[in-house]
Amino acid sequence: MEKKEQLYEGKAKKVYATDDPELLIVDYKDDATAFNGLKKGTIAGKGVINNQMSNRLMAKLEKSGVPTHFVRELSERETLVKKVSIVPLEVIIRNIAAGSFSKRYGVPEGVVFEQPTIEFSYKNDELGDPLLNSYHALALKLATPAEIETIKDYSFRVNDFLKAFWKECGVTLVDFKLEFGRLSDGTIVLADEISPDTSRLWDAKTGEKLDKDRFRRDMGGVEEAYAEIMSRLEAHL
Ligand code: ADP
Ligand code: UDP
Repeated sequence: MEKKEQLYEGKAKKVYATDDPELLIVDYKDDATAFNGLKKGTIAGKGVINNQMSNRLMAKLEKSGVPTHFVRELSERETLVKKVSIVPLEVIIRNIAAGSFSKRYGVPEGVVFEQPTIEFSYKNDELGDPLLNSYHALALKLATPAEIETIKDYSFRVNDFLKAFWKECGVTLVDFKLEFGRLSDGTIVLADEISPDTSRLWDAKTGEKLDKDRFRRDMGGVEEAYAEIMSRLEAHL
């Protein structure tokens, strides 16, 4: 499959056309951003890890019955995916309080919920990805009621799957962000990525952070944490 023109360059990936109008190539970069692009940096080797981790996890999710955009890994940083029209919602599932949840509601990080929570934000960089509920999403015509139901159902299924998988690896899944898209026939599939950039992953024994919070919070050991989480995953494939 040949890379044709670059369609888009985002904060973490580049997206290319291919000779098949239904397929795209994504190319993962080492660039890292946080706080809506205000903090910028590089995490050496991140692109390779995020590409491979996202692909391994999506292949497993596909087998467990959640449709995804994943087609085939082409190289260390490049993957062939089904082209979708992205539903402009960031779907966040949380099992444990952290980050913006802790800040917004005044709950210490680490408080474990009895049930997972779901929230949406409007994927719109100019507006700073504002939080919204499903009624707002309908009013803004971001998705149909049936699409929102499907997205919620898949998101909780992804959580059940990932929570159990990471537990086997000695890792606690705190929270994560998903994006969904529509194939040309309207089918909703999981798209974008699942990686330490988009998830909070804590060592189950020590609570050590093995994700992008190390970069966001200038904790050091960022590359090492990405390598550690990848080796945990590889040991449990
Ligand atoms: P951002 O746009 O937030 O800077 P990235 O650097 O990760 O993010 O860029 C990847 C872009 O590609 C994102 O906007 C994402 O929504 C989009 N995308 C992910 N998967 C697909 C897909 N299968 N088809 C079309 N677009 C996709
Ligand atoms: N997240 C993400 N992209 C975003 C915002 C959040 O991937 O634009 C992920 C983040 O890595 C974490 C989860 O979603 O795993 C919840 O993030 P939170 O709302 O706590 O926001 P943050 O602390 O990143 O501001």
